[in-house]
Amino acid sequence: MVQRRGLDANTPNVARIYDYWLGGKDNFAADRVTAEKLSGIVPEARAAARANREFLRRAVRFLAKAGIRQFIDLGTGLPTQANVHEVAHQIVPGARVVYVDYDPVVVIHGQALLQSDDATAIVEADVREPEKILEHHELRALIDLDEPVAVLMVGILHFITEADDPYGIVARFREAMAPGSYLAICHVTADPRPQAEAQVTEIYRQTTAPLVPRSRDQVLRFFDGFDLVEPGLVYAPQWRPDRLVRPAEPVTSFVFAGVGRTPGRP
Ligand code: SAM
Repeated sequence: MVQRRGLDANTPNVARIYDYWLGGKDNFAADRVTAEKLSGIVPEARAAARANREFLRRAVRFLAKAGIRQFIDLGTGLPTQANVHEVAHQIVPGARVVYVDYDPVVVIHGQALLQSDDATAIVEADVREPEKILEHHELRALIDLDEPVAVLMVGILHFITEADDPYGIVARFREAMAPGSYLAICHVTADPRPQAEAQVTEIYRQTTAPLVPRSRDQVLRFFDGFDLVEPGLVYAPQWRPDRLVRPAEPVTSFVFAGVGRTPGRP
């Protein structure tokens, strides 16, 4: 049973913790205290959040340059620098973007940002209910599922527990995607420091969503049915970097990133 979230400043919220790490202002004391607790255990947490966000920007640029004209961004997060439609529009003005998040605060902020943009929409929905998202009238108004689409699952699948069948969720989106579509994933892992996992996940248990770090093999499984584009599934800073990456940076980003393509169209 999927529960709807309310506006609650006292429960640490995963979107606002991330906003804090990215230097945003849309967070409360409870979020900041939790973020600092997490940074106490994993000092690279802020850098990891940034590596995730930088991957999102590079992936959207890559996809727009690959000819993608429509994007579904699942788990949008609070608006910050280089939002998906802004990055996409630099390359493809008029590219259509549907944002999806289950957090009403994220949706309100998104609506304010998108007010005057006809090519974008934000839908309040839960990724654990793919059917509702795929059939949503606002999504259908902008996205033609008979044409290639990019589905972005950046920083979201690690909030989906096994009980909610994350592999089944990804498979449902894959089935709905036309040949030549793309899936981008960025996912937290504990592979670099397994001894920190229990403490970190215990803290996330007190937040709006539990954290489920996954191994590289487990993340790779999300790409079943897709052909991974170069360089495959790697630590986020290693995915088509557009700047010099320091030697220690990849592994301490704690996030695996990859982009896959549905086969079938040249
Ligand atoms: N995708 C953005 C990025 O990578 O910069 C934001 C990632 S933020 C860490 C995760 C977002 O996923 C939050 O805004 C949270 O509300 C959303 N989220 C978590 N679980 C979700 C679910 N089951 N359905 C929809 N959104 C969800």
